Amino acid sequence: MEEIISAIATPRGKGGVAIIRMSGEGVLALAEKMFSPVGKVAVKDFEPYRMYPGQIDAGNFSDYGLCVYFKAPKSYTGEDIVEFQCHGGESVARGILKKTFSLGARSAGKGEFTKRAFLNGKLSLASAEGVADMINGESEAEVKAGYLLYSEKLTKKVSALQDDLTYLLAGIDVSVDYPEEDIEEQHVEEIKVELVKIAERLDGLLAGYSVGKKIKTGVTVAICGKPNTGKSSLLNCILGYEKAIVSSIAGTTRDAVEGVLEINGVKFNLYDTAGVRESGDVIESIGIERAQSIVRGADVVVFVSEQDGEYDEEEIRVLEMAKGKPIIRIRNKSDLLEETLATDGEWDIMTSAVTGEGIEELKDMLYEKSLGERSEDAAFLIEERHYDALRRAKEHASGAIFACGKEPLDLIGIDVKAIWDCLGEITGETATESIINEIFEKFCVGK
Ligand code: GDP
Repeated sequence: MEEIISAIATPRGKGGVAIIRMSGEGVLALAEKMFSPVGKVAVKDFEPYRMYPGQIDAGNFSDYGLCVYFKAPKSYTGEDIVEFQCHGGESVARGILKKTFSLGARSAGKGEFTKRAFLNGKLSLASAEGVADMINGESEAEVKAGYLLYSEKLTKKVSALQDDLTYLLAGIDVSVDYPEEDIEEQHVEEIKVELVKIAERLDGLLAGYSVGKKIKTGVTVAICGKPNTGKSSLLNCILGYEKAIVSSIAGTTRDAVEGVLEINGVKFNLYDTAGVRESGDVIESIGIERAQSIVRGADVVVFVSEQDGEYDEEEIRVLEMAKGKPIIRIRNKSDLLEETLATDGEWDIMTSAVTGEGIEELKDMLYEKSLGERSEDAAFLIEERHYDALRRAKEHASGAIFACGKEPLDLIGIDVKAIWDCLGEITGETATESIINEIFEKFCVGK
C-alpha cells in the first residue's frame, strides 16, 4: 500500500486560494478527521469530483473552504486524491498541511504526484516531462510544445514504432526457430524494407529537434555590421525600450547587449555586437572577439548597413564571418533618404530606427529564417534526452539495415530489439530508475 503523500500544490506566498493535495489509499478517511462539511452529508459519502463546502480543521485554527475527492483510478495519480481549497495565506495553507501530517500523511517529494501517475500508468515518461516543460516554460511556444508532449503526441508516434518493431521481431523469431533457406532470403528482404521505413520515421522525428530546441532555449540573433550603422538603435527599436547604449562615436558598443523578445510566442535572444574594424584599442578588440563568437553561435544574423549595396572591406569581413548562417541584410536609416530606393538592391529590408519603418517586417523575417514554415505540431521534440534516445535508435536501425543479407537473422533481431529499447526510454518502459528520478527532480513539490 502506498503511503498518503501531502503537499501544498499552489505557489508559496499570499493569494486568493491555496490548495493542499493528498494522494494515497485511505485519503478520504484521513480527510474525514479534519473536514466538517456543511449540511448532512458525511465525508465518507462524498461523491467524487464534487466540491463540498465546510470547515477545515488545522489544529490550532480553522478555515472555511472546499473539499474535493477524486476516486481511483480516475484521478491525476491513479490513486484516491483529496484536495482542500483554503484561503490563500501561507500560514493557513501550512497549518492545514501540518494537520494532514499529524493524521498520518507524509510530505510529498518533488514531482511525486506525477511520478505516481507515471508508475500507475496514467501517463508516459515523455508526457510527464511535458508537464514539467509546461510549468517551467518561459514562452508561449515552450508551453505549447510542452502541452504537445504532455498530450502524448511524441509517445503515440514512438509507441506506433515500437508496435511495428514488435511485429518485426515476432517474424524474425519465427524464422530463427524454423529456418528454411529459401523462405529466409525472401523474409530478409521484407525485413529490410520495413527497417528502412522505420529509419525514415526516426529521421522524421529527429528533424523536429532543431525547431524544438530553439523553442526551448530561444533563437539566438546576432546583430552585426560596421560601427555607427544603427545596430543598437535598431535593437532598442525592436525591443521597444532603451537598453543598448546609443552614441554617434564609432566603437561605443563594446559589449554584447542582450535583449529578449517574443515573436509569435517564441523567445528570441538578441545580441548587439561591436563592429569588426581593425583596432589598436584592447577593449575594442576584445569586443570584436566576442562579436565573432556570438556570430558563430547565432541561429540568425542581422547585418546592418547604411550602404545601398556596395559593401566596403569592413562590411565584407562581417559578412564573411556570418557565412553559412541564415542572414538578414538591413539597409538602415531610410528616413535620411531623399527618395525611396529601388527595392532590388542588396538588402532584404529597409529600416529606420527613427520612424520604425521595416521593424515589423524584420520580426517576421527573423521568425521565418530561424524556424521556417514548419508545422508547429512538429515541435514537440524539445528534450535532449529524447533526441539522444532517437539518435541511438537510428544507429541501431542503420546497423540492422546494413546487416540484412550479410548477418544471420538472430543478430539482426538483436539490433531490432535495441531500437525498441531505445524508444522505451522515451515512453519510460526501459528507462532506468536514475533517469526516472532525475526527471521528477525537475518538478516542484505539489505537482
Ligand atoms: P551602432 O554603433 O551600429 O550600434 O549605432 P548606434 O545605434 O549607436 O547609432 C549610431 C548613430 O546613428 C546614433 O546617433 C543614432 O541616433 C543614429 N541612428 C541609428 N539609426 C538611425 C536611423 O534609422 N535613422 C537616423 N536618422 N539615425 C539613426
